[in-house]
Amino acid sequence: MENLTEGWGVIRPGDRRAHYYRDSFSLCRRVGFYVGDLDPDNGPSRDDCAACRKALTREAAKAQP
Ligand SMILES: [Zn+2]
Repeated sequence: MENLTEGWGVIRPGDRRAHYYRDSFSLCRRVGFYVGDLDPDNGPSRDDCAACRKALTREAAKAQP
């Protein structure tokens, strides 16, 4: 299993909305102290937290030369 420092995670089983966590805090700042599994970003999904996806997209745009 990969040991990711950031990625998408679902905070509890049954909650299908995934947040993007970095240093255990979500990019949308709504949830923190996440310790579960993280999935690397594989592009937009309908399960994504919209605020987290927006923050990630903004970062990706900024990273372009
Ligand atoms: Zn979020």
